[in-house]
Amino acid sequence: MKSFETLGLSRGLAESVKHIGFEIPTPIQENAIPVLLEGNRDFVGLAQTGTGKTAAFGLPLIELCDPDSWETQALILAPTRELCVQIAGDLERFSGSYRKFNLVAVYGGSSISDQIKKIKKGAQIIVATPGRLIDLIGRKAVRLETIRYVVLDEADEMLNMGFKEDLDEILSHTPSDKSTWLFSATMPAEVRRIMKNYMYDPHELTIGEKNSGNTNIEHQFILIREKDRYAVLKRLLDFHPDVFGLIFCRTRVDTQRVADQLIKDGYNADALHGDLTQQQRDKVMKSFRQRAIRVLVATDVAARGIDVDDITHVIHMNIPDEIEFYTHRSGRTARAGKKGISVALATKGELGKIRQIEKMIRTTITRVPIPSGVDICRKRLLALMRRVHDVKVQESAIAGFLPDVYEELKDLSREDIIKRFASIEFNRFLDYYGNVEDPDAGLEGEGRTERYATGSRIFINLGKMDGLDKAGLIELIDECCGLGKKDIGKIELKGAYSFFEIDTANVTIVREGFGDVSFRGRAVRVEVTGKKPTDTKRKKKDKYRKGEVWRSRKGVKV
Ligand code: AMP
Repeated sequence: MKSFETLGLSRGLAESVKHIGFEIPTPIQENAIPVLLEGNRDFVGLAQTGTGKTAAFGLPLIELCDPDSWETQALILAPTRELCVQIAGDLERFSGSYRKFNLVAVYGGSSISDQIKKIKKGAQIIVATPGRLIDLIGRKAVRLETIRYVVLDEADEMLNMGFKEDLDEILSHTPSDKSTWLFSATMPAEVRRIMKNYMYDPHELTIGEKNSGNTNIEHQFILIREKDRYAVLKRLLDFHPDVFGLIFCRTRVDTQRVADQLIKDGYNADALHGDLTQQQRDKVMKSFRQRAIRVLVATDVAARGIDVDDITHVIHMNIPDEIEFYTHRSGRTARAGKKGISVALATKGELGKIRQIEKMIRTTITRVPIPSGVDICRKRLLALMRRVHDVKVQESAIAGFLPDVYEELKDLSREDIIKRFASIEFNRFLDYYGNVEDPDAGLEGEGRTERYATGSRIFINLGKMDGLDKAGLIELIDECCGLGKKDIGKIELKGAYSFFEIDTANVTIVREGFGDVSFRGRAVRVEVTGKKPTDTKRKKKDKYRKGEVWRSRKGVKV
């Protein structure tokens, strides 16, 4: 097993990181540190947040920068204030007493004159958001000509946030012989453009599969009706008594509304979005880090750079408009080798996006049911009982009070005491869930079942005109493909054709199953189709006529 010293770090620095609890390098550290220590190579690291990338670039920077020179030697750009503060703090922690650098973090929302004063004292390493750095360049408060290393952290996020021009301008102020180290969770065209324009033959490193999320994240979705969105969120939170979660909404207004509603309903929740002042945002983040807030409701932009460990759940109130955001959102859980759950609330209309995301992250997003009232009550009751079982009894402190307690309960049997005790917490949930209908009711009957994750919609050139009804079609699918009723989702029976839904994993079975089939003298053809056909329907029909689509060939009669 590799140690930090065998990667080429000096003993002093290795000791210093050991002191803060880093004994074994993470994969990105193991692979990046030896390359970056060479000091003269451009570098691209494709890695999710939480993989330990700050130390992967931070430790080589500490070794390569000269503590005796007061010139600005390294510039680290990051998308948000939170991330800047975090990186600066991490670098200081890493170097400990090994080396002291004058590190200055500059970002919007804080006094620029204070930041200028700090830079004037001599900033050996600057950590900046692009916008604020542009301001400082405009005021001639920073000199970037002496920079030897530029780190672009979360490059995709900076570009998503519209910092493209700022990055171009900043990079144009840095010397051409510097080394550029770029880190990104995803590799969209814009990041490639930066690589092409500003980097020379970079050493590329991918941690995990390209575009695949962190494998410690379990990806789930819950199929909901639009009107039930908030109620399902509440159920999800109730079903996970130990949740420490981040909830994403699309807009600031939604974010505040959901947070307000949660607070009203008794949850330890708060909101984080761009309408808050910097002080308010800092306060919210502090409470979240200290776990005083158990669920933080945030917009995509505000939540960038949130680097709180141990987040158990990332909940997507809606699927993000930009599907790339999904990766950024879910990357806030399962940090530093821990496990986490990303769960999206999706209506039927959003299932197409779920499929796109599955393709992007190359992972199945598994459908999970809406927790039923009974399940929630059971889970809460057991959680309470576990707490009772595990609570530490302060024997001597409580001893003096116990005689009165026993006296108070003397008429009750053991069973009665347990029942009543459990009811104190249980009644709260029973009162609520005992009176509301489970929102899932009705959805199952409409088609998709829990057995399959995301479905594919199949066109088949048979319909009512062929004497088929739903039962007949199911029977035919069963006979040809071996799939039963449980494997088939929604069926739409038309005159000359029909549609049915199946698990995407069964598409090949259906294609092959119908590959050699005729029904009442007609060759059966099936095709995977998208949403309900609209304008494209006619074109497709024409295509069918031309025989361009897959069709059954062998003509076996059924
Ligand atoms: P990062 O991706 O740099 O934000 O790091 C994610 C988390 O992993 C942070 O809490 C780090 O302190 C922690 N971490 C980074 N490297 C190591 C390591 N080698 N051993 C243990 N924890 C680490």
